Amino acid sequence: MSAKRMNLREKYQRMTRDLAWKPSYQSEDDIFPQAKYEGIIIHDWDKWEDPFRLTVDAYWKYQAEKERKLYAIIEAFAQNNAQLNVTDARYINSLKLFLTGVTPLEYAAHRGFAMSGRNFPGAGPQVSSQFQSIDELRHAQTQIHTISQYNKYFNGFHDWRHMHDRVWYLSVPKSFFDDAMSAGPFEFVTAISFSFEYVLTNLLFMPFMSGAAYNDDMATVTFGFSAQSDESRHMTLGLEVIKFMLEQDERNVPIVQKWIDKWFWRGYRLLALVSMMMDYMLPKRVMSWQEAWEMYFEENGGALFEDLARYGIRMPKYWEVSVKEKNRLSHEVWSIFYNYGHAAAIHTWLPDENEMAWLSEKYPETFDKYYRPRFDHWRKHHQEHGRWYNNTLPMLCQTCQIPMAFTEPDDPTQICYRSSEYKGMQYHFCSDGCKDIFDDEPEKFVQAWLPVHQIYQGNCGGASVPEVLEWYHLKHGQDNLEYLDSQDRANWLRWKGLTEQAEAVLQKAANE
Ligand code: FE
Ligand code: ZN
Repeated sequence: MSAKRMNLREKYQRMTRDLAWKPSYQSEDDIFPQAKYEGIIIHDWDKWEDPFRLTVDAYWKYQAEKERKLYAIIEAFAQNNAQLNVTDARYINSLKLFLTGVTPLEYAAHRGFAMSGRNFPGAGPQVSSQFQSIDELRHAQTQIHTISQYNKYFNGFHDWRHMHDRVWYLSVPKSFFDDAMSAGPFEFVTAISFSFEYVLTNLLFMPFMSGAAYNDDMATVTFGFSAQSDESRHMTLGLEVIKFMLEQDERNVPIVQKWIDKWFWRGYRLLALVSMMMDYMLPKRVMSWQEAWEMYFEENGGALFEDLARYGIRMPKYWEVSVKEKNRLSHEVWSIFYNYGHAAAIHTWLPDENEMAWLSEKYPETFDKYYRPRFDHWRKHHQEHGRWYNNTLPMLCQTCQIPMAFTEPDDPTQICYRSSEYKGMQYHFCSDGCKDIFDDEPEKFVQAWLPVHQIYQGNCGGASVPEVLEWYHLKHGQDNLEYLDSQDRANWLRWKGLTEQAEAVLQKAANE
């Protein structure tokens, strides 16, 4: 006897919505204790639409196929020693930043979506959250597999999980996700699915993946594309969740707007790390940060918010500041890393003459005026007195946790300082955006684990740089310091047959 074949819509209905039920002996409020406290009002969970109508059996089939292809390519990459084909060993430092900064966020996203799936009362968002949770776990795994290949040949990758919880610049991405995960389920999906995945994701994906392709890193391109095919589903979830909340009740609008403001600014500050990668760390550049911001935020984001205007949603607060900063962001952030290159698990360097010419061309109003003289000064200092490292710890922003080196929106020569008082204590911020976020939820942000404060309080292994580095598990002289004098560079030169140059690098490093 043959059963009647169900069409996709019926099958989706049976295998998702039909699995939900009305509880009879427990109250909904007890089962879903986080569903209401954020103030979001939902009248009808069945209005949730999933355009993909994905079922569990279809999901496993698609994903298994992707995994088979991905691991075949990774295997071939390893067998052919394809790490030797990248443009230059400097490029590997952007991967170090990716593995230590972003891969743990994939895992955090896996946990976060598992929690939001558990906490939403509706079957539609439960199912979408569950798929995304599994996707994110897969992303973390494929990235770790891919990059473990690089760990065999380059320094700085060896203890990324440990470093993520301790190292100063990694507390920037870590605190971003901790903030989202410790919010309620609606804020979490607004933060991650909408603000990050829908509005800002291109600014993470494009530089890393096109950057990898431009620099002949096929291993990274492969995991990138494998993850990107899940991304279209995630972006759909991001847009759906926003429209769903806005359509359910107009009292949701101001709450959603506040979250969009907060998470735009947090996401933008997080992307400051990407801006420096695009303009300074890729030996072959894809485009400048400024160009990427214009294309992906000002144009695409602008169109999106025009579309959302009919719900009463406007552009995120302080978006104008991001536009004012677009021609200085990467230079300011790379300067921070150059200053503290002795305490980072990536190498830093000054752009060479050709690269400075590129920067002048891409940033005609700012580069020659503000940053070239600074780099010339540092280069001269390096030649005459050795490499400059800053041994004074910086003040950190209480919200984004980045050292306070950003400048006033209307004056690129003045550091921007903001502060708030709360219960008799003073808190410091890099911007009006970060100050507003704190002022709205001070009880949350006074708890921030700020790496510099923790060092001063004696919680990071000791009071000297070597003690802190040991506590970070950072191998001094291997993982950190100037690229020109690094073991990574010496090894690279040797693999390319330039033995004498390699010896000179090691000799110079030994003398310093
Ligand atoms: Fe992901
Ligand atoms: Zn900040």
